[in-house]
Amino acid sequence: MTTTDHDADLRLTVLGCRAGMPEPGWPSSGYLVHAPDGAILLDCGPGVAAKAAARAAELSAVFISHMHTDHCLDLLILGKALALRGLDADDTTAPETRIPLYVPPGAATTLRRFNELFPLGTDGPGAHPTDHVFRDVFDVVEYEPLRPIRAAGATVLPVPMAHRQPCCGFRVTTPHGTLAYTGDTGPGSAFEPLVAGVDLLVAEATLDQPDRTRHGHLCAAEAGQLAARFGARALLLTHWAYTDRAWIDAQVERAREHYRGRIDVAVPDHTFHVDTDTQEH
Ligand SMILES: [Zn+2]
Ligand SMILES: [Zn+2]
Repeated sequence: MTTTDHDADLRLTVLGCRAGMPEPGWPSSGYLVHAPDGAILLDCGPGVAAKAAARAAELSAVFISHMHTDHCLDLLILGKALALRGLDADDTTAPETRIPLYVPPGAATTLRRFNELFPLGTDGPGAHPTDHVFRDVFDVVEYEPLRPIRAAGATVLPVPMAHRQPCCGFRVTTPHGTLAYTGDTGPGSAFEPLVAGVDLLVAEATLDQPDRTRHGHLCAAEAGQLAARFGARALLLTHWAYTDRAWIDAQVERAREHYRGRIDVAVPDHTFHVDTDTQEH
């Protein structure tokens, strides 16, 4: 980690990292990757919209791993927040063009129907700008697994993960390094295209122990094994089932038994830097 030239680092800001529903101060999933031409938001769970809307000026693209609520439910709120900013002529942070929103196959229709359930119901002809955010604010595209997408000067590769709902992790390659975000995944995924040789592995560590169900989650030991097996230079554990510090610290120790590199834990509003110019962790 460097303390001098952060602009040259691979950088990721955690907006939310709670598994399932949020707790006070702990929104559900949302991560900003800082790319050359703006910030890429990975997932938009409950509590993330307000934080992402506050950074509207830098928001360049959004990717959704899967349609479990803790990863996507705030998309409508974010869209409405951005639409309202667009109505304010004095708001220079309002996006001037539609923001690309990459969603799993089939999700575009779900989101449009979701928006239609909550019309503003204003008088007069025509719909309110917040009534069609998945047409007017976002440019919605259903991504194809394993087909790379250019966004904000980076390349994003969606990689299928083993989870209860169809889910993709994202491998994000920027000029300053490469990170992998697992989304939600069981240990049986084909991880190599996602994780091999990354500078930073953002791995879910939801469980205390290996998953005995077919829901599809990792425990911290498995996240550590993953980082070691595929040569990740740093590991960021996330997607917390519990947020008390003692529980989180115990997960770090479990990952540490398998991985000798740098391990950090996701905390809302923290920005993590990985200096990719040196071998220093
Ligand atoms: Zn989740
Ligand atoms: Zn899930």
